[in-house]
Amino acid sequence: MSKLAVSIFVHDPATALADARRAKAAGADMVELRVDALFEPGPPPHNKLAAMVTLINQCPLPCILTCRPVWEGGLYEGDDQSRLAIFEHAGLADRPPAYLDIELAAYQRSANLRQKVHLVVDHPSAIRPQPTQLILSSHDFQKRPADLTARLEAMTIAPAARVQKIVWACPPGDLRDSLQILQLLQHRTKPTIALGMGEAGLMTRVLAKKFGGHVSFCTLDDQQGTAPGQVSISTMRDLYGWQHIDPATQVYGVIGWPVGHSMSPPIHNAGFQAVGFAGVYLPLPISPGYDNFAANLQALLDFKELHFRGASVTIPHKENLIRFVKERQNPGDFIEPLAEKIGAANTLVVRDDGTLAISNTDYAAALDAVCHGLSIPRAQLAGKRVAVLGAGGAARAIVAGFAHHGATVVIYNRTFDRASQLADEFNGQGGRVVAARFEKLCDSCCEVIINCTPVGMHPNVNASPMDDAGMATHQAVVFDTIYNPVQTKLLRNAAAAGCVTIPGVEMFVRQAVGQFELWTQKPAPTELFRQVTLQRLSPG
Ligand code: NAP
Repeated sequence: MSKLAVSIFVHDPATALADARRAKAAGADMVELRVDALFEPGPPPHNKLAAMVTLINQCPLPCILTCRPVWEGGLYEGDDQSRLAIFEHAGLADRPPAYLDIELAAYQRSANLRQKVHLVVDHPSAIRPQPTQLILSSHDFQKRPADLTARLEAMTIAPAARVQKIVWACPPGDLRDSLQILQLLQHRTKPTIALGMGEAGLMTRVLAKKFGGHVSFCTLDDQQGTAPGQVSISTMRDLYGWQHIDPATQVYGVIGWPVGHSMSPPIHNAGFQAVGFAGVYLPLPISPGYDNFAANLQALLDFKELHFRGASVTIPHKENLIRFVKERQNPGDFIEPLAEKIGAANTLVVRDDGTLAISNTDYAAALDAVCHGLSIPRAQLAGKRVAVLGAGGAARAIVAGFAHHGATVVIYNRTFDRASQLADEFNGQGGRVVAARFEKLCDSCCEVIINCTPVGMHPNVNASPMDDAGMATHQAVVFDTIYNPVQTKLLRNAAAAGCVTIPGVEMFVRQAVGQFELWTQKPAPTELFRQVTLQRLSPG
């Protein structure tokens, strides 16, 4: 059974003990005591050794003892001779560590270290059994080691190593190293810890449990990582639901660049957990460029045991998703016709038979948010006059959606030519679509005004795309696609002028609801989605 360990830098043993107790209370199975933070170079002083032994004895959870040298990314600047004194003392504890972590490189180069370590750990040729087991570890903070196979082989054949540990830094914006790491776990021949560092390695930390990784490491709090990309125990348990993950867990995520601050993981994971759906939803950072997108998506799809079942796809890959599915030319795939017309899809469903269905829940979310504001069904949008401010990606999906339902759409954009082009593309595709100069907005007689520009978005919260006076002449439904802040200046002015207002959160929540229902085939907990979203945004 995979264990979740909290890594603790031991600067002061009393604080480390308090941290270990907090780790237990937070649901950790183990702690890693990083004593490289405790000892200076040179022979370790008796008082510190005694304090370390007391810490190990009193530790409320089984512990891994690690004294990582600087040459392997740790803090310990002393030599192996001094480190051995630390390990030997740890072995004298009444309740010795469950594991001792030694770097493969140190173990390979020193017969003396090997011999002394063998006295402290349980191994086949030991004279007497010891409760402490050896983890042989290898780290590369730059990249996948060129001699990866040789390192793994050396750790696999070392009889004293009960557990092998391989960790390397995954390249940003590329998930393929992470997938390789998960495959190493899948094909392990002895207990293995395999993890990827950095943002792109997050999936290896969360999915270690799905693939039978021996241990995954996390931090006690958000700021206390001992390796790049480690997340806190509350992120592992409360956000990603570590305790629910098993080999059958289905994998979803948000593909985009950047995705580090995406609100989609908290929303969808909360939803999965609320309806008891056996899935986990991860950030899937893939850097820009079609080739990188296509290679990463193909790698996700090819890894059958990953059970990758779908994704939200965001900037800059919504257009790439359409191209990817078109180029596959798989007759079983489905592209939602309006998504194809828009040229962008934000939702990927991977069906059980491996075929793909892609759609755009953005435009549908905007339509439904406005219909809700107008208290009408979609069918009654025909003939409504809708002003769209902006002609970028969001505007394009919204113009397409309203035109498709027969509305008359006027596009106001700073760059008139762009508005014109957009209008030409969608005019006559259901309703009439025309372009107008931005300055003419105040003369608009539209019943619905939709802001699709970033004007008023955090941090420029005192800006508005419409001047305050103009607003008073309208009795419209005003929808601002901006969701941070929740109440933009445009919405505040509109409400003061007596308009019905719709915040961008409504579109965000509804597009997520659409995705969730496509993936799970269950009604989404919409109110929960709204709460989770609002908790993360400033009210404005
Ligand atoms: P985009 O593709 O970059 O387009 C931005 C549009 O805004 C362009 O038409 C641009 O005009 C215009 N614009 C930018 N700065 C302006 C300014 N200072 N004054 C007047 N016009 C300006 O961006 P996008 O992806 O469409 O996103 C636009 C907004 O939609 C963002 O605020 C985003 O938060 C929001 N959005 C919300 C949701 C949701 O779920 N609620 C989803 C998607 C997007 P030019 O053509 O002249 O450059």
